[in-house]
Amino acid sequence: MREVENMQDVNDMQNIQDDRLTDIKSLNLEELTEFIAGLGEAKFRGKQIYDWMHVKKVESLDEMGNVPGKLKEKLRKETRFVCLKPVDVLISQIDGTRKYLFGLHDGNVIESVFMRYKHGNSVCISSQVGCRMGCRFCASTLDGLTRNLTPSEMLEQIYAIERHTGERVSNVVVMGSGEPMDNYDNLLKFIELLTDVNGINISQRNLTVSTCGIVPKINELAKRKFQMTLAISLHASSDEQRKELMPVANAFSIEEIMNACRNYFENTGRRITFEYSLVQGVNDRLEDSERLSRLLKGLNCHVNLIPVNPIKERNYRQSTAKSITDFKNRLERNGINVTIRREMGRDINGACGQLRKSYMDKRENQ
Ligand code: SAH
Repeated sequence: MREVENMQDVNDMQNIQDDRLTDIKSLNLEELTEFIAGLGEAKFRGKQIYDWMHVKKVESLDEMGNVPGKLKEKLRKETRFVCLKPVDVLISQIDGTRKYLFGLHDGNVIESVFMRYKHGNSVCISSQVGCRMGCRFCASTLDGLTRNLTPSEMLEQIYAIERHTGERVSNVVVMGSGEPMDNYDNLLKFIELLTDVNGINISQRNLTVSTCGIVPKINELAKRKFQMTLAISLHASSDEQRKELMPVANAFSIEEIMNACRNYFENTGRRITFEYSLVQGVNDRLEDSERLSRLLKGLNCHVNLIPVNPIKERNYRQSTAKSITDFKNRLERNGINVTIRREMGRDINGACGQLRKSYMDKRENQ
C-alpha cells in the first residue's frame, strides 16, 4: 500500500524557511525562553511555545492557540519552524510496519521506519542525509554525505509519524541513514530534547543509538552516563575482515572498539548491543563465530544477527538459513546472548536507505 503526497507542495510550503533564521525546535526550554525574552516578550511564552512544539506537536505557528498574533508575526520573521511531511509512505500488509520518506525544506529527502511491537511503537530515525562511512553493503552511503540533520529534523521524524499514525511512539532507535557519531553535537541536543520531561519525554532506556564504532565519540558519550543502549555495528571478527566491509575499520581497530565498549559499560552499567550482518562466504563461517565469541567473552553484551539485505549495487548475498542458525548456536554454546533480528514489514522490506536512493534516482532521471 502506498500513500503519496506531492513533493512540490512540500517544497512550496517549506521554501519560506531560511537557514539563517533560528531553528526554534532545536532549542531547549531555557534557550527558547531566552530567545523569546530577546524578542521583548514575556518569558512564560517560551514554555507555551515549547509545549505546542514538543508536547502537542502542532504543524504550524498558526495552531498555537494561546500565543498572541503579534508574537507569531515576530516568530515568522525571526525563526524557521521545522515540520516534516511524508512524501511517500509504504505500509506493510503483514505487520503494519511503515516506511516513511520525508521531504526537507532544502529539497533533500530522508527515510524513517515505524514498527509496532507488543511493548509499544518504535521509530527508527535517520541522523544524516546520506552518510560518509562507506560501509560496503549499505545503500545509505552510496552517494556519500549530503549534510547533517538538525536536532529538530531528527525529532520531527518521530513527531510527524505520531501525527500521521495517530499513535504514540515509546521507543526510538537511531539506526536509519547516517552515522550519529559523525553528527555528535546535534545528536546530543536531540537526546536532550527527546528525553526532556517537559517535552515528548521518552525515557533514556527506550533509546538506542547505533554506531559503526567511532571510538573517541563513544568515550565522550560514556562520560554523559546516559541510560540509553549503545549498539555497535561490528559485522566482523577480525580487523582484516572488517576493513573489507567497513572503511572505518582503517581508523579504529576492533580492540580499540572493545576497550571503548568496556569503558561505556563501566560508566553507564548498560549492556552493549553488537550488530552483526551475516554475509554469505564473507563473515558467516563457524570460525568467525568462534572468533567473535572470544572477542566478546566477559563483556556484558548482546549480539543481534542480521541476515544482510542485498542491495543491487553490490553482489553480497545473504547467508543460508542453516549457516545463520549454526552461527547463532555456536555463539550460544560459547555463552553469548544472541538473537536473530526479526524481519519486520517483509513485503515492504528494503535495505536501509534504499527507498530514498530509488526516489532520488527517479527524480534525477525525470
Ligand atoms: N551508522 C550507524 C547506523 C546506521 S545503519 C551504524 O553503522 O551503526 C544501521 C545498521 O544496519 C548498521 O548495523 C548497519 O551496518 C546495518 N546495515 C546497513 N545496510 C545493511 C544491509 N544492506 N543489510 C544488513 N544490515 C545493514
